[in-house]
Amino acid sequence: MSVYRINCIVCKIEKMHELSIATSILKTAEREVENSGGHAVKEITLSVGKLAGVEIDSLKFIWGACMKHTVLEKAEIVLLEPKGKAVCMECGTVFALEKLYDSCPKCGSYFKEIMSGKELKINKLIIM
Ligand SMILES: [Zn+2]
Repeated sequence: MSVYRINCIVCKIEKMHELSIATSILKTAEREVENSGGHAVKEITLSVGKLAGVEIDSLKFIWGACMKHTVLEKAEIVLLEPKGKAVCMECGTVFALEKLYDSCPKCGSYFKEIMSGKELKINKLIIM
């Protein structure tokens, strides 16, 4: 019972996280549409890194529910999901990062600099 409850709380928090992301995307889109003198977004390109901690399915679900009657209602979404990549601080090896706490496959060091995969941004907006 308690495990079930914990899962529910986690799920709720994650959905709230995705909701705040969707809200801030919408705010940016509204501002851009207003600044350009257009009336809606035709296409939006989003970059959501594999390590950004965003649940794509939740974001899509929230998107469908929240973007009605907004400038993003009819927007076509192009979703880019850059993979995690890091460079080892000890031996300089560049390696694919599946999870944030992965170690260097060559020397086993945990000291690394993340090069990509944590992005969460709007790459492009086409306004009509
Ligand atoms: Zn290394």
